[in-house]
Amino acid sequence: MKFGCRRAVSLLLLCGLGAGCSRPVPSAPAQPETPAASTGAASSTSDASGSIAPPLDPALLARASELSQRFIIVDGHVDLPFRLELSSMEGKPAPDVSGRTADGEFDLPRARAGGLDAPFMSIYVPATYQERGGARAFADHLIDVVEGLVRAHPASFALAATPDDVRRNGAAGQLSLPLGIENGAALEGKLEAVAHFRQRGVSYITLTHSKDNDIADTSYESEHTHRGLSPFGQSVVREMNRLGIMVDVAHVSDEAFYQAVELSQVPVIASHSSLRHFVPGFQRNVSDDMLRKLAARGGVIMINFGSTFVTAAANAVGEKRKLLGAEFAAQHKLDRNVLTDRRRIEEHVSRALPLPLARVEDVADHVDRVRQLVGIDHVGLGSDFEGVGPTLPIGLEDASRYPNLLAVLLQRGYSEAELEKLCSGNVLRVWQQVLDFAASAAKTE
Ligand SMILES: [Zn+2]
Repeated sequence: MKFGCRRAVSLLLLCGLGAGCSRPVPSAPAQPETPAASTGAASSTSDASGSIAPPLDPALLARASELSQRFIIVDGHVDLPFRLELSSMEGKPAPDVSGRTADGEFDLPRARAGGLDAPFMSIYVPATYQERGGARAFADHLIDVVEGLVRAHPASFALAATPDDVRRNGAAGQLSLPLGIENGAALEGKLEAVAHFRQRGVSYITLTHSKDNDIADTSYESEHTHRGLSPFGQSVVREMNRLGIMVDVAHVSDEAFYQAVELSQVPVIASHSSLRHFVPGFQRNVSDDMLRKLAARGGVIMINFGSTFVTAAANAVGEKRKLLGAEFAAQHKLDRNVLTDRRRIEEHVSRALPLPLARVEDVADHVDRVRQLVGIDHVGLGSDFEGVGPTLPIGLEDASRYPNLLAVLLQRGYSEAELEKLCSGNVLRVWQQVLDFAASAAKTE
C-alpha cells in the first residue's frame, strides 16, 4: 500500500482530536521562541498571560546540563515518524533531522544539546485506519521510515529493541530510536501480528488511541464498547507478556487501565500521560488511584509535557479552542482534513484564543506528586514532542530542554540518583523485566 497520495493525507487527518490529543500538528504555528531557545536554558520568560517565570539559577542549570549528558535519557513518546510522513505526503522532502530543523521539536542537534539518548519513536496509527483498513500496513510503513532514517545516518542513529541496545548505541555515540506502536489497531485483530511487530523491533504497544478499537476502550469516548479490554484484548496483553513487548496503558479508559494492569504478569507503562489531580476530569490523565495500582505492580508513568495535560487552565482553554475551530471551519466552509484549511483554522484559533501555556515548573509538579504518592521508582518522561508542539510549556519547548526540568527538580532537592531514575532508570527497569519474563516464558514452552 502506498501512502504518498492526497487521499492518505485526508485519511490521516480525520483523526481530529482536540486538547490532549497526541496527534501531530505539524501545520500549527510554531510556539513562540523564548530567549533561551538557542541555548537550551530557561531564562526569564513570559507566558501568554504575561506573567514572568523567574530565571533558573545558572549554577543549577550547569549541573543539570552536566547530568543530562551523563545520564541516559529515555523519552516515552516522540511523534517523529508521523512528522516525517506528513512532509512526504505534502510532497515536500522530509526534514533532515540529522541537522537542525526549522520547525518541530526533535532533531539530532537539539537531542544532543538536551542529553536525550533514546526517544521512543511513535508508530502512530490513526483511528481512521481501524475503520477503513490498512492499519498494519501503515504501522509497517512508519517502521520503514524509522529504519530509513537509521540507514541514511548510521553514525548518528541506531535502532534499539532492548535496554542493552540503548547502552551500546550510547557508548558508540549513536542516538537510539526504540519503537512503540501507538494504537493496537495495527494488529488488525490477529494475535500473530504481535510476533510480527516484535520481530520488527517494537518494544511497546499502546492498546488503543482516540477511539475504542478491538482491543480496548479509549479515554476519549464514552461508548465503553468492551467495558475495558475485549476478550481479544486480554489475549493481546498475554501475548505481549509472552513475547516481551511492554503494555502501554496511555490513551485507554479507566476500566481498560485497571484490567490491563491487573492482567499483565509484568509491570506496565503509561508512555505519555500526566496526572488527573492537576487537570480534574481529564480522563486521558491518570487518577491517584490508578497511579497507586500502576505503581503497586511495578509500573511507570512517563509524564506528558503538553500544557493541556499539565494544567487545568490550559486544558479548559484547549477545549474552548476545539469548539472555536469547529465554528470557524463551518463558517468558512473549511475542511480540517485539508492541510491548507487546517492551517487557517489553527491560525485563527491561536489568534483568537491563545493557550495559557504551562511552565516547566508545572511539569515538575507532576513528577513531584508521583514521587510523593508512590515514590520515585514509578515516574519517567514522555514529552509527546512532535505530537503536542504548540502546546508545549515554557522551558520545555523542544528536545534541548530536558536540563531545565532537571534544574527545577535539583532546586527542589532531588538527588542525582532520583533524577537518574526519572531520566531512564525506571523505564529501563520495566523494559528489562518484560524481556526477562519473555525469556523465561520461552524456556518453559
Ligand atoms: Zn498519544
